[in-house]
Order: sequence, then C-alpha cells, then structure tokens
Amino acid sequence: MTSPRQTLGAALWRLSDLVRADEGRRSFRAKAYRTAVWSLDDLSPDLSGSVDVMLAVPGIGPGVLKLIEEFRSSGVIALLERLENQYPRDVARLRRLPRMTPTLLRSLKGELGVDRAADLIAAVDSGAVETLKGVGPTTAERWARALELAPSPKAVPAFQAAALAGSLDRHLTHHKGGRTWVAGAVRRLEEWVDTIDLVAEVEDTVGTGRFLEETAVARFLGYTGAATSRLESHEGVEVRVHLARPDAPGPLLIDATGPPEHAATVLAGIGDDAWSETEVYARQGMVCIPAPARGLPPEQAADVVRSTEIRGDLHIHTERSPDGRMSLADVLTAAVDLGYEYVLITDHTSGLRFGGLDERALAMQREEIDHARDRFPDLVVLHGAELNIDRDGGLDIDDHGLGLLDMAVAGLHSHFDLGREEQTARVLTALRHPVVRILAHPTGRRIGIRPGVDLDVDAVIAAAAENGVALEVNGHRDRLDLSADLAAAAVAAGASLVANSDAHRIGEMGNVANSVGTMQRGGVNAASVINTMPLGRFREWVAGVSRK
Ligand SMILES: [Zn+2]
Ligand SMILES: [Zn+2]
Repeated sequence: MTSPRQTLGAALWRLSDLVRADEGRRSFRAKAYRTAVWSLDDLSPDLSGSVDVMLAVPGIGPGVLKLIEEFRSSGVIALLERLENQYPRDVARLRRLPRMTPTLLRSLKGELGVDRAADLIAAVDSGAVETLKGVGPTTAERWARALELAPSPKAVPAFQAAALAGSLDRHLTHHKGGRTWVAGAVRRLEEWVDTIDLVAEVEDTVGTGRFLEETAVARFLGYTGAATSRLESHEGVEVRVHLARPDAPGPLLIDATGPPEHAATVLAGIGDDAWSETEVYARQGMVCIPAPARGLPPEQAADVVRSTEIRGDLHIHTERSPDGRMSLADVLTAAVDLGYEYVLITDHTSGLRFGGLDERALAMQREEIDHARDRFPDLVVLHGAELNIDRDGGLDIDDHGLGLLDMAVAGLHSHFDLGREEQTARVLTALRHPVVRILAHPTGRRIGIRPGVDLDVDAVIAAAAENGVALEVNGHRDRLDLSADLAAAAVAAGASLVANSDAHRIGEMGNVANSVGTMQRGGVNAASVINTMPLGRFREWVAGVSRK
C-alpha cells in the first residue's frame, strides 16, 4: 500500500529532475525539491499535520510547502504535469548529454516524440535528429556514443550511484541510528551500477524494516530473507539494505560487498559470529583485501597499492582557476590533515575555453606559494599548472612562462572529436615537452556522459614511459581515467601512474581514494605509483634524475 507521503516523494523527485532540465544544472529550485524528498520521512505517512509542524522540518520551506498543500488538496502538482508533457521521460539522463539544452530537450519530445534513451539512439540512426535546429552529425554521433555506453537500461554511472548511496547511508543513520556502510558495486568502484547495497547495523530490525517500507525516498519492493529490504530508487536503481546485528557487521559486509566468489572463499566456515571485516580475513590467515581488488586472484589482490601509501596529491585547483573554490591555505591545511608530504598546485591556464592563468598570473601565484611555504614548513609545496594541450600538441603558456613552474600537468580539454591519428599525435607532442610530467585524465572520458577520445592508447603509454611522464588515474567518480584496465596495461608496458584528486573544492580532496581504488581494481601495486614515493625519491623524480 503506497502512502500519500510516498506518492509525493516520487512526484517531488521527478519534479526536481524536470526543473533541473528546464532551468539548468545549478537550479536552486531543483535542489530544494530534491532536499525536500529526504525531509518527507520526518512527516507522517498520510501527510496530516499543520503548516507550522511542516515548516519546522528542516528542508521544507514555503515553496515546497505550497506544493505539499496543492498535492494534499488535489492529489496532483500542476507544474509537474506541465513539465512532464514538455520533456522526455529519460530527462535525467538526456539532459547530461554534451551540448544538450532545455530547448533541444523539448524539441526532442515535441517534434520527434523521444521519451527514452533508446528513442534518441533510434532518432540518431534514422537521421531524424538532424532535422532539429542546432543538431549536426557530430553532436548526433556524440549523443549516440554517450548513450550506448550504459551496459543495461537500469544501470547508472558510478558518480550518480555513489551520490545516492551516500545520501541513503546518511538518511538511514539519521533515522535509525547505528553505523551504516556502502557495500556492493559502489564500494568495489564499478563504473556502472544497477544495484546499491547498504549494510546497516541496527538494534530494531523490525522497526527499520517498517521504516524502509514507508520511506518517501524510494519505492519498497519486498524482502529477501529476513534481513534484507529491497527498494527501487526514484532513479530506477535497485537498493538492497542488509540489516546486521550490532557489532557483527563483518561477515555481512563481506557478503554484501562481493563479488560472490570472493565472498564465498573468505566466508567459508566462518558463520555469522561477531567479527569485524578485518577479523574475518585474519581468521582465514589473509590480509584484508581492499574492496575494489576483490575481483582479482588472491595473490595479486593482497599486493595492491593502498590509500595509506599515498604521500601527496599532484593535481589540485585553487580559487585561481575559474572553477576552483578553495584558497591556497585551504588546500594546504587539508593536505596536512591528510598526512601528505608534498602537493603540486595545478590551476588551469589561459587556453581553457572559460579562462585561466596567463604568465603574469602564474608569476603572482609563485609569490603566493613562496609565502605559503613559510606557513606550512612540513609540507613541500610545488608550483605547477594544468596546461591545455592545443590542437597541434602545443601548450598554452610559452617556454618563458613554463620556466616559472616546478613541473606541470597537461590535459585535453578541447578538440575531442579529432580522428585517431591526429588525436594521438597531439598527445605525443605534449608528452615530449620537458615541463610536462603528468598526463591528466588521459582519455578524457566521463562515465555516462562522453566516451574517451579516439586515441592509440598503446602509443601514448609507450611515449609516457619513454619520456618519464606519469599517467594520471583521475579520482573524480565520473572520470576514473585511466580506467582500471588501462591502468593495468600502462603498468605492464612500464609506465608510471599517479593517483590524483583533481580537486576543485575541499570535499573533493578525498577523490584520491577513488583513484587508488581504480588502480586496485587493475591490480596495480605501489611501486608503479609515483606519489607513493618518499620525499627524497620523489624530489629526484621531479628533478628528472630517475627519468628514463
Ligand atoms: Zn582537466
Ligand atoms: Zn584539473
């Protein structure tokens, strides 16, 4: 039986998606509606209660209250119905496509009858999509390629699943107390996720089960066994919540993390005694295997690089980048808190479409960094930049300006559509420049948004190894670039890797864990990762002494 609160939850979630498509990514209203869905669980299931009671709930303001009132009196939300008629069903997915605009989304629905992602792929195949104003063959091709990336219609990209899993995790803790863990595919850092697994430690299993049956943030599907509730998120992803007895999460956590063959080996003969995850591994005479490595053969899994081995972050933006939100002091304070020994500051340079630092600005930053070195004596602060590789492989700062830098990161931020030969040649040219020591997000892919550029990856790996350039595994959940497979291939071919956050705001400094996790999936060990080097060796690497 669906309660009014659950119906409203689904409606507000949908409205949030539609308003975001209509008003753009930064829509304040879209965000407020999404927040409100999480707040609904603080209201009664039948939505009874006075206006004052509702307004006292954090996350429910006057705008949302108006919608609740409308829904209570009429059972519908007029704005939702209007937008629903204007936009495709799969709007949440389609709005993220490159060069997509609200107008185009409306034309897709209104003129071509596109509702699902599959409809759009068909419209690209038939050429119908090119009858729309502003859509040429290049854009059409990009859309089709981006949509075809999904392995199944239900799967969502890692960044989306991780965000949802994190919110569910906090929501459960807030309402039911106890510790919760994100397990399953999200914890294993898979690129696409069709099921989110959470493990929650609760005293009151029955009460928690009932809470999940009635929640407004997902649709309840049923139970699997006594202690697992199955739900479907409003995004269509299945969510399994596994309830554990307090202080006994280890076996359940291992089981819910998977993959099944690994879990079966580790749990053989263990029962469900009160052990932590580490204790279960220890009892089997194994070291605790990081979740992303659990799909590997055991000997290889035990040896992978660990997050605790990372000694510095070599791709970080400050507020001097147009999209950066941290001061240099914020960055360095966070780096000290993370226990880092060194960092490389890499703001965007001027060739970027939306602007960046020119030589003069780099010189000013040099002074700022010199001052900061006095304030943070225990941290080695290197001055770098994230240079743009132009169409021909040139860099967007001349050699005089580059002389200011200790070393630099270079990356592709434009001309993603070049053919393989041209694309590869441009990257190889950039790799030969002596200031370039790191190739950022080498393929430029964004999971679920755009495929990587057409690149002869083997040639790039070989050139990186030859020129002493480390290939980045970018830690943004939507990038994870290089991928686990390519990271493994790079190591096999003798290239070095670097685990970087590419943080633009404080919360993103922790992205390094995603980078390390991706390497773990690829079976990479610390010897191939330059930012595991102790300071002395790292300094030699920077100076080029250990340059092959
Ligand atoms: Zn970049
Ligand atoms: Zn960057």
